[in-house]
Amino acid sequence: MEKRINGATEVICLIGSPVKHSGSPLMHNFAFRHNDQNYAYVCFEVQEEQTKEALDAMRLLGMRGCNATMPCKVATAKYVDKLSPAAEIIGACNTVVNDGGVLTGYITDGAGMISNLRENGVEVKDKKVVCIGAGGAATAIEVEVALEGAKSLSIFNRTVEKAVINVNKIKAAMPDFDVKAFAMDDMEALKEEIANADILINGTSIGMAPDADDTPIKDATMFHKDLVVADAVYNPIETRLLKEAKEAGCKIVTGDGMLLWQGAVGYELWTGAKFPVEEFRAFKAGLK
Ligand code: NAP
Repeated sequence: MEKRINGATEVICLIGSPVKHSGSPLMHNFAFRHNDQNYAYVCFEVQEEQTKEALDAMRLLGMRGCNATMPCKVATAKYVDKLSPAAEIIGACNTVVNDGGVLTGYITDGAGMISNLRENGVEVKDKKVVCIGAGGAATAIEVEVALEGAKSLSIFNRTVEKAVINVNKIKAAMPDFDVKAFAMDDMEALKEEIANADILINGTSIGMAPDADDTPIKDATMFHKDLVVADAVYNPIETRLLKEAKEAGCKIVTGDGMLLWQGAVGYELWTGAKFPVEEFRAFKAGLK
């Protein structure tokens, strides 16, 4: 029987729909037990139009915070009291901290990618970065790459208008930052930008199961051995993009680390404690 939960237990939750499949309760409840902290993490099915009520309930019940997933991420940013710089630029958040009724919204996906790169010995500061995609994950990564002080950022996306929107969002907050948008089918530009890049990040869903034989980089001669290649896709863990980049001599960084670190960043915001990354990895390996 669960022995930690008592009258003083602080609750943290996930809001969104659907939420039953979420891996967050396993992760955070493991960490609370491991670090002997009096918190519990639970999931609540919340529709987009119920987001404000859910956040008000968090205030009323004195909950420590929440994660927000689809379809509540944008509405959450609208109804919290304050936003982190990244959440402000993006206009969405996935993590909320409740300090005595004042709710602050954060977005931790991009920070998760930065921490994942860092764990693999890769710093973004002063680097030339190419990022493919302009959806939820890619946008969070791109904004964080800019906030981390990269030298430049080149954004490629199938729908180029969305890449342009991201460039404009970043420029509005950081006018001096060198960021450009390209269409993904502009092969000449892709080749040239990758040739001069330090880090290439796939933020699209290309290569995700069941389409695991697909890759955003169709021409593997674009890889060079000084390039670090990272993927947001974590199913499969080693995507075709990463396999081919590894064969070309690139250092690769898998998306499962981003998933873990984006949660770890939230955990640290709520509790002030370090997430037990290695212990959780060992615990999960034991479940397989
Ligand atoms: P999303 O908002 O739907 O964005 C999808 C992105 O992929 C868009 O840029 C889209 O381009 C592009 N795309 C999809 N299919 C494409 C195709 N056939 N050809 C070219 N471009 C294509 O999705 P998301 O939430 O950002 O998720 C993207 C991936 O990241 C997923 O695999 C997800 O599992 C993963 N992810 C990982 C983490 C992590 O922690 N590791 C966190 C979040 C997401 P258009 O704009 O042109 O449609």
